[in-house]
Amino acid sequence: MNKLTIDDLKLKDKRVLVRVDFNVPLNEKKEVTDDTRIVESLPTIKKILNDGGKAILMSHLGRPKGKDPNLSLAPVAKRLEKLLRWPAKFVDDCIGEKVEKAVSELKSSEYLLLENLRFYPQEEKNDPEFAKSLAKLGDIYINDAFGTAHRAHASTEGVTRYFKECAAGYLMQKELKYLGMTLSDPKKPFVAILGGSKISGKIDVIKNLMDKVDTLLIGGGMAFTFYKALGKEIGSSLLEEDKVGLAQDILKEAEKKKLDFLLPVDFLIASEAREDASTRVVDKDSIPQGWKGLDIGPKTVELYKDKLSNAKTVVWNGPMGVFEIDKFSKGTREVAQKLAQITEGSAVTIVGGGDSVAALAKDNLEKRMSHVSTGGGASLEFLEGKTLPGIAALTDKK
Ligand code: AMP
Repeated sequence: MNKLTIDDLKLKDKRVLVRVDFNVPLNEKKEVTDDTRIVESLPTIKKILNDGGKAILMSHLGRPKGKDPNLSLAPVAKRLEKLLRWPAKFVDDCIGEKVEKAVSELKSSEYLLLENLRFYPQEEKNDPEFAKSLAKLGDIYINDAFGTAHRAHASTEGVTRYFKECAAGYLMQKELKYLGMTLSDPKKPFVAILGGSKISGKIDVIKNLMDKVDTLLIGGGMAFTFYKALGKEIGSSLLEEDKVGLAQDILKEAEKKKLDFLLPVDFLIASEAREDASTRVVDKDSIPQGWKGLDIGPKTVELYKDKLSNAKTVVWNGPMGVFEIDKFSKGTREVAQKLAQITEGSAVTIVGGGDSVAALAKDNLEKRMSHVSTGGGASLEFLEGKTLPGIAALTDKK
C-alpha cells in the first residue's frame, strides 16, 4: 500500500493529531483491564515524543449515548502515563476552546489525550464541522487505529480533508503490510482457514479469497450449511436455511476453479453445547437426529494440519468449533498450535477476528503468530477486498 507513513514526516515541534484505538475494557472501578491496544500504539507515540513533536491523541471508547462519565478516557491517560513513564495531560473534551487552549500550552515531546470522541454523535456521522474542529488541533495527521479504519467517521475520514499530510502510524503500517501482502503478493502455498458460526458473516471473504488461495479449509458452524447444500443430514447442527443456495454456488465455483476446498470429514457432536454434555465423534454424513456438530473431529484435525504443513502464507479467521467450551475447543486449539509451529518455520501466519484471537490467548499463542490483527471487522473487510475509508483517506506516497 503506497501511503505516507510516520517515517516520511518531520515531527519536530509539530502538533501531531493521532487517531488511536484506545477502546479498551474497564472494570467497575474504572481501571483498564486489558491494555493491549494501548501498548500496541506506544511505538507511534514514542516516535512523536522522541522526535520532539507534540502528540494529540484521540480515540473512541465504547458506545456512549452522549457524555457518559462511565466511558471517559481519563483512566486511559493514567495507564499511558505508567506505560510511557512520562506525565500525561488529559482534557475532558475533544473540541472547542478549552481543548484548543490545552493544545496551545503543549510543549514539544509532551502528549495530550482528548476525551471520548463519541461523546459527540457528529463523530460517527462524519460531520464536516466536527471534523474541522478536530483538524484545528493539529499540523499533521496520523491514523494508527486500524480497528476503526473501515468506518468513515470524522476522526478517521472527515478530518483528513483539512490536512496536507495524512500518514499511517506504525500499527496501521504493520496491519497493512501483513494483510496487504496476503492479497497482493502471498508466498505460496497460500492457505485460508475460515470458521465461526455463519456463512453470512464470511461470504465476501470466501469469495474474494477463492481467487487467491491454493487451499481453503472450512470449519465451525458454517460447515453445516455447506453440507446441507450437498444434501447431507446435519442433525440439529447450526444451519442458515436461507444461505443453502449461496453455499451451493460457492461449491460449484470452487469446483470450476479446481480449488482445494475442504470441508470437515468428521465432527465432535453432542445434544447440547454444554461442558457436561456427553459427546461422540462421527463421520460427516452420520450426524444423528437431535445431535449437533460442535467441533471438527480428529480426522479433520489431522487433515487440516497436514494441509498447513507446507503452507507459506496462512490467513485464519473464525474458530473451528464452540471453542468457548473446553470440551469443544480441541479442533480450534490444535489448528492454533499448528500455526505456531509453522510460524517457527518460514510461514507467514495472520490471524484476525475477535474469536480466533481469544482462542489463541487460551494457550498464550498470540506472540507466536506472524501477525494478529487488532481489527476484527476491519480485517474482514480488508480481506473482502473492500477499500477501507480510513486507509483510502491517507496521503498517497509520491
Ligand atoms: P463468528 O462471530 O461468526 O466468527 O462466530 C464465532 C462463534 O462461532 C463462536 O462463538 C463459536 O462458539 C461459534 N461456533 C463455532 N463453531 C460452531 C458450531 N459448530 N456450532 C455453533 N456455533 C459454533
